Amino acid sequence: MLKHCHRIFLIFLALCLTQLAFIVSADEPSEIEIRKMTPPKLSESNLGQKILCYRPVRKGGPKMAIESIDSKWVVHNYGHGGGGWSLGPGSANYVVSLLENTKEVHHLDKNTPITIIGAGALGLFTAYTLVDKGYQHVTIIADKYENLTSHNAGAIFSPAVGIKTEDQVFKDLLFKIGFDSLKFYQAIASRQHPIFLDGVTQMPQYFQTQKTPDLDAYVGQLLSPAKNVIVDFGNGTTQAMVVYDDAIFIDTSKMMQLLKNHLKGKVNFVKRKVTSFSQIKDNIIINCAGLGAKDLIADEELISVQGHLILLKSHAAINACRFHPR
Ligand SMILES: Cc1cc2nc3c(=O)[nH]c(=O)nc-3n(C[C@H](O)[C@H](O)[C@H](O)COP(=O)(O)OP(=O)(O)OC[C@H]3O[C@@H](n4cnc5c(N)ncnc54)[C@H](O)[C@@H]3O)c2cc1C
Repeated sequence: MLKHCHRIFLIFLALCLTQLAFIVSADEPSEIEIRKMTPPKLSESNLGQKILCYRPVRKGGPKMAIESIDSKWVVHNYGHGGGGWSLGPGSANYVVSLLENTKEVHHLDKNTPITIIGAGALGLFTAYTLVDKGYQHVTIIADKYENLTSHNAGAIFSPAVGIKTEDQVFKDLLFKIGFDSLKFYQAIASRQHPIFLDGVTQMPQYFQTQKTPDLDAYVGQLLSPAKNVIVDFGNGTTQAMVVYDDAIFIDTSKMMQLLKNHLKGKVNFVKRKVTSFSQIKDNIIINCAGLGAKDLIADEELISVQGHLILLKSHAAINACRFHPR
């Protein structure tokens, strides 16, 4: 049975950050920037849709591996937990290169038919990568195309969130996958991407008091260092916080639509539930079934972790994210 973690994870609160920022040095040991921020309105009339959705969390991290099952090659790309959007583009690159570099996979060329199971972020990014590399016969099979976890996620760039592993080789791989993904999203946010010009924004991300190793790993290469600031909410409350000014925010439902629009006419979409890999005629299968992988390959490491989202109504445009741990 799927385990439900009843943790209210109001992933972030959209905050209206005025551009008013100034420096005080009065009695402070060192200068610290003060940023004025309008807190979100949380009265009932400002609360919109309340959404429950489920992360495909896999103990030890996502499964990205290739194996032979029922005389077919199955490449796994699932179990990305609370970081599926952050890892998605890089993870798709990685599993496709795994397929291409496995010597035992004979006769792989751009005309080889390939089936992807799953039409969430991982399935669509994998299809995008295959199409981008010139594969001509890509099919996506999924029993659901709408209202998936992937449509409902936050989503902020946070690639290693919740992944507990001591395996340094795997940690290095996750870092590289996160790096590829962050470059992909930065290209969209700066309108430099050749295909996607919307759906991703660079904006400040505030944390309670500590820097996050998730983002710190990319500081100096792709991100600017975190800053300590005092946030002044304008209502008598101030709070010491840490901010990454060039963090990434992904509009997940928009990005899902953009990916699907791009793939229309290039990929064959089939709506069907798969209960065994032997039901698929193609000899190469990429398993992006998210939580569905639990039944498909009896993966006991995969668990469902519930998340709650509350959308805000009648609000100014989002221009900052705030992490609010409980
Ligand atoms: C509240 C919340 C907040 C989140 N915030 C963030 C965030 O800030 N940053 C971030 O990076 N990530 C975040 N995530 C995580 C992210 O949303 C997920 O990791 C990601 O969406 C998983 O994508 P997926 O494609 O693996 O799964 P899904 O979106 O669940 O898609 C699975 C697909 O597989 C299909 N399928 C499954 N089984 C079968 C079968 N047997 N036959 C046919 N089709 C099948 C389904 O129909 C579906 O199409 C958040 C998640 C939640 C719930």
